[in-house]
Amino acid sequence: MRIAIVGAGIAGLAAAYELEQARRQGAELDYDIYESASRPGGVISSRVVPSPCADGTVLEHGPDSFLTEKPAAIELCRELGLGDQLLGSDDAQRRTFILVGRRLVPLPDGLMFLVPTRLVPTLTTPLFDPITKLRMGLEYLAMGWLRRARPGGEDESVASLVRRHYGQAVVDRLADPLLSGIYGGDAEQLSAQSVLPALVRLEAEYGSLTRGMLAARKKQHAAQQTGAQHGGQHRTIFTTLRGGLQQLVDALVARIDPARLHCGFSADLLTLDASGWRLRFHGEPTERFDAVILATPAWVAARILREVHGPLGQELAAIPYSSSITVNLLYDEAEIPPLPPGFGFLVPSVERRAMLACTFVHRKFPGRTAPGKAVLRCFAGGMRDESMMEESDEEIVRRMREDLRGILSIACMPQVVEVRRWPRSMAQYSVGHAARITRIREYAGALPRLHLAGNAYDGIGISDCIRLGRAAAGALAQSLQRAAVR
Ligand SMILES: Cc1cc2nc3c(=O)[nH]c(=O)nc-3n(C[C@H](O)[C@H](O)[C@H](O)COP(=O)(O)OP(=O)(O)OC[C@H]3O[C@@H](n4cnc5c(N)ncnc54)[C@H](O)[C@@H]3O)c2cc1C
Repeated sequence: MRIAIVGAGIAGLAAAYELEQARRQGAELDYDIYESASRPGGVISSRVVPSPCADGTVLEHGPDSFLTEKPAAIELCRELGLGDQLLGSDDAQRRTFILVGRRLVPLPDGLMFLVPTRLVPTLTTPLFDPITKLRMGLEYLAMGWLRRARPGGEDESVASLVRRHYGQAVVDRLADPLLSGIYGGDAEQLSAQSVLPALVRLEAEYGSLTRGMLAARKKQHAAQQTGAQHGGQHRTIFTTLRGGLQQLVDALVARIDPARLHCGFSADLLTLDASGWRLRFHGEPTERFDAVILATPAWVAARILREVHGPLGQELAAIPYSSSITVNLLYDEAEIPPLPPGFGFLVPSVERRAMLACTFVHRKFPGRTAPGKAVLRCFAGGMRDESMMEESDEEIVRRMREDLRGILSIACMPQVVEVRRWPRSMAQYSVGHAARITRIREYAGALPRLHLAGNAYDGIGISDCIRLGRAAAGALAQSLQRAAVR
């Protein structure tokens, strides 16, 4: 079986790795992976700053870590021999601030997925006005009427769900900055069902989100106690690699036969005839394959599939994407004013600033920054301000520094500055996403040996993309095995 993988981001590389494993175990398959850019890895890219400036400091241009509770990334790292490179976040320092005017206010303790679960921190936080606090308290008493207020049991936006339970101030001060920080997204458009399925389930069961979350926390606590009694390990929230996430890309590429990875190949059109799939590249003749894994952004997959299945192409094209910009600024810690104790801060859109969020990198993963240095990683763009993508690097850095001056009183020049743009890179799970994905799976399932992988479908994070890439390749390897048995 000859298989084409289109796109060598983490999803495509994970698929190639899985196929390579199957091949080494005797599966009779051939694969090629095509990447339009000059390097594999997609949005994963990191650089280690050379000495003498900041010996060994890691700058992440795209993602900086994976969620520890989603196992696919950590499992893959271990398989690739990177187990000793895994590094947990310093959760003792984990605290996130929200910008209110010129002040950084810590998220109240006990906040779980936007849901307040502790009374005193909720009542005393300066983040909310007294009426909002009263409403947050009363939500605990609300049972059936909030469930009934749900629009016809259908999907709704995260903002709508949060507003029904806690009011607009919680949308403005919590949902909006958290979602634009994580997804580069807009709480008014993102789907509650796809982005916060746990809250939708809690509402269905308990009516009150706070009541539901308290019950869930109790169960989790009991499970943790049992885990601890059985020698379970404490897990940090985030995990990364000591030398940067580029290590994962490099380790995957090292396991793939180099003759099969083709960078600078932009797939243009896929067609299907009696002999199988034909894939066309810009300026290249078509190639024939028995199976295809499209691991590009959905809007690219839509274009490639335009002649194969119109409705599938339309559904893929309808998945919105946001663009994002990261700006790494490296300073001498002694030259900047003391930072508030935490991982960083989020900026609500009501504050009308260019910056979406800022991570204090040396605090989140202390082992990756040279002693005495501080790295501030700023985010910009997103759904909030796509026009930033058109600005020059100088202008973007000027605006980030202006915000840092206003928020953290940092006026000195950074020693290293790195700006990266990621156009149309983050899929937005907008209202109705789950139903759209069901239709996409149905249409794609009706086509022979066509698989879709990447961040558009079933999880935006690195672990989700690895899981989907490996599952697509695994399904093809299994179908080959079944055919051999017959
Ligand atoms: C700034 C940023 C920060 C993030 N932070 C985190 C984080 O901390 N933790 C986390 O878990 N996730 C994070 N994410 C999300 C996560 O990194 C991505 O969702 C994931 O890496 C996407 O992988 P992918 O393979 O689906 O897509 P991509 O990485 O976008 O790869 C797709 C590949 O397809 C290629 N391609 C496109 N068109 C063609 C074509 N016509 N022919 C051939 N190849 C083509 C592209 O060049 C690209 O290499 C972040 C994302 C961004 C942008």
